[in-house]
Amino acid sequence: MLELKLVNGRAFIPDSGIFDLEVGVNAGKIVLLGSPGQLPGAEKTIDAKGKLIVPGVIDPHIHLGIFSDFEKECESETRAALAGGVTTVGVFMGGGESYLPMLGKLIDTVRKKSSVDLFFHLSIFTPQQMAEMDKYYQEFGVTSFKFYMAGVRGVFPGVTDGFIYEGFKKIAAMGDRATACIHCEDQSMLDVAFEKVSKEKPNGTLADWADTAPNIAEEEAIMRAYYLAEKAKNRLYLVHISTKEGADRFAGLSKQGTARVFGETTSAYLSVSKNDPCGFLGKMVPPLRDQKDIEGLWDRVKDGTISSFGTDNVSMNLAVKQPEKGMLGAMPGYPILQTHLAALLTEGYHKRKVPLETILTRATANPAKIYGLYPQKGTISAGSDADLVVLDLDKEWTVKSKDLFTYGDFSLFEGKTLKGWPSAVIKNGKVAYQDGKILAQPGSGTYLRRKL
Ligand SMILES: [Zn+2]
Repeated sequence: MLELKLVNGRAFIPDSGIFDLEVGVNAGKIVLLGSPGQLPGAEKTIDAKGKLIVPGVIDPHIHLGIFSDFEKECESETRAALAGGVTTVGVFMGGGESYLPMLGKLIDTVRKKSSVDLFFHLSIFTPQQMAEMDKYYQEFGVTSFKFYMAGVRGVFPGVTDGFIYEGFKKIAAMGDRATACIHCEDQSMLDVAFEKVSKEKPNGTLADWADTAPNIAEEEAIMRAYYLAEKAKNRLYLVHISTKEGADRFAGLSKQGTARVFGETTSAYLSVSKNDPCGFLGKMVPPLRDQKDIEGLWDRVKDGTISSFGTDNVSMNLAVKQPEKGMLGAMPGYPILQTHLAALLTEGYHKRKVPLETILTRATANPAKIYGLYPQKGTISAGSDADLVVLDLDKEWTVKSKDLFTYGDFSLFEGKTLKGWPSAVIKNGKVAYQDGKILAQPGSGTYLRRKL
């Protein structure tokens, strides 16, 4: 007797295909896959007729606790994630202090409050943090570390190539599965562009905001990061590629070079342009860009250059976002977890006919493999965690931010119709979300220690 089975659906198995399969679950794990009618009875059965059963989505790039308590956001934002089909998140933590005294408490909070599984990437800004990277791994199972080639203006500075190269060598020495994440923009190019735009157009539009961080700044930094990784021989992950030029340059480097580098873009960069009616709600670092960048990024998704999708979610409400303060005064960032999968399916699968397998692999198996979570996560196979999405590819919903589970009170997709939403989400073998309602309790998610 099974605890749960999913019947009458088709299942997407990354690297294999889409099959008529029943999925059986016991004690939080997938235990059996079978042809229709083959599985034993179950205490609970989900009828997935007309739906696609896919592995829970992994969003390897989010932020929590920036504009509100970590504890509060860990509770509310992971519920938004769950409702959008995201069952595992990678959270970037930053700051200038040692992470050793805080990680234990953060992990306790995750275990009490999170509704999804969660792992940390730690940003490395100081020599002390760099010296402690081995300890972050040994004590807390952290295997990925982030470097900022450019900082966020007025918030924190970037680090130098010399510092990054030292970090890359340390990560290479930690082993094959340790990963450096990198924010690629050249600081000096940003400074020149920002100076000019802020002087000439202090009351500019979202499109003018894009000119404060020109595409060349990303492309140039991608070349440097790739070069440094080739020399240091570490594994590298380019976060949030946002430009056509950056993605094209990365494609060329990947063909010729020897470095082990993965590239990420976000669902926002694949779906929302700088001319979108959302206006300053879309202010972000790096900025939303042109339609040609959106098309260029989708081309690089299709040809395999882009290996994973994140969100770069930074939750906040309108009182913090302050879009009325205009180009220079509005706060960068947006809550976007719940619309992540639906936006990818709408823009990729429905609008551009990008194969479903291409999109789903980059949302599930690839981030799991890159961050050392596969096959526990990111696939549907016997022994994997039972994190599953019952996906209704034809379901349309016009986004209303008041009905999203984030505490943030706005969305880039407000009033837009997205097509392709979860009808149910299974987390850890339990029905955690169904038909618009969250059934999971805070604390049903856990912290994921990773191994090198
Ligand atoms: Zn980020």
